[in-house]
Amino acid sequence: YQRVVLASRPRGEVQPDNFRIESAQLPELADGQVLVRNHYLSLDPYMRGRMSEAKSYAASQAIGETMIGGTAGEVLASKHPKFAVGDKVVGMLGWAEMGVADGATLRRVDTTHIPLSAYLGVVGMPGMTAWYGLNQIMMPKEGETILVSAASGAVGSAVGQLARLKGCRAVGIAGGPEKCAYVVDELGFDACIDYKAGKLAEDLAAATPDGIDAIFENVGGAGFDAALPRMNAFGRIALCGLIAGYNGDEVPIRNMRYMLTSRLTVRGFIVSEHMDLWPQGLGELGQLVAGGKIKYRETVAPGLASAPDAFIGLLKGRNFGKQLVKLI
Ligand code: NDP
Repeated sequence: YQRVVLASRPRGEVQPDNFRIESAQLPELADGQVLVRNHYLSLDPYMRGRMSEAKSYAASQAIGETMIGGTAGEVLASKHPKFAVGDKVVGMLGWAEMGVADGATLRRVDTTHIPLSAYLGVVGMPGMTAWYGLNQIMMPKEGETILVSAASGAVGSAVGQLARLKGCRAVGIAGGPEKCAYVVDELGFDACIDYKAGKLAEDLAAATPDGIDAIFENVGGAGFDAALPRMNAFGRIALCGLIAGYNGDEVPIRNMRYMLTSRLTVRGFIVSEHMDLWPQGLGELGQLVAGGKIKYRETVAPGLASAPDAFIGLLKGRNFGKQLVKLI
């Protein structure tokens, strides 16, 4: 089978030659293991951190190893009592056409009302990230205003829609008029600010007449900085991601003093450290998606060989919604 390995560590922007496609042999299936054919690969911003050697919350991955990543596919053979041939499963098999996984690392999913791919997005890790940050950190009350950056993306799109369902005013930040139109017209946000239009402070003031009570921060950089002066007293910030800096760019915060003067609470979090809440969160998200109450969008790259370029695009905002690779 074919797989994509980390060939070298990027310096600054990720390049195609940081990856290599190679053939690999499947190991013999041992007791407790399952052979899975991947239908979809998930591409996620955190992978940039794993490609690097810099210290972070998780160890970096070794050169020559299969690129890490979430996957959704179908069981081809099983030596685990809980999985049968044909089951649809989500796992962490990485950038590969297929692989062998311990049954304990797989989750069987029901594709009757929810498509398989959605389990890598809104009913998977990104959706859970939105759910956690909103419910455990931002804790917005009805009528409050929340702001979310990378608002058209996998995480951000869910944050705003969940907040709307709680009766909040949801304001997004996204790159370009097309993404902003989608965030308002399709996802139902109250407003969306195009940070590329060059008048952040003015647009934020217009979109948040009552100030901002809580921020879900995905990006860092200019949008975050411009939002701080608009925070109301005792506002909450769920610090989820700083994608503007993942390729090494500086993301200075000039308006730090508002964290003091507005008595803000800032909490970073890593969603995979809260597995105890996943069944609840994914259960709620699954019902909302199956009931049409939460919408989502995907950008699907065709075939394993397209994964490196699609990942490079994700770090530049070329994706529109959840970035996937479709294998079959
Ligand atoms: P998205 O689907 O939102 O895709 C990434 C988006 O980020 C792009 O579409 C782009 O949107 C924006 N972006 C990319 N590069 C830049 C840049 N240089 N400056 C500004 N914006 C940029 O990805 P996800 O929803 O999967 O992830 C969103 C964030 O959540 C990331 O920061 C990620 O690391 C974080 N995350 C954190 C988790 C945790 O446990 N803490 C778990 C999962 C995700 P646009 O065109 O609008 O700029």
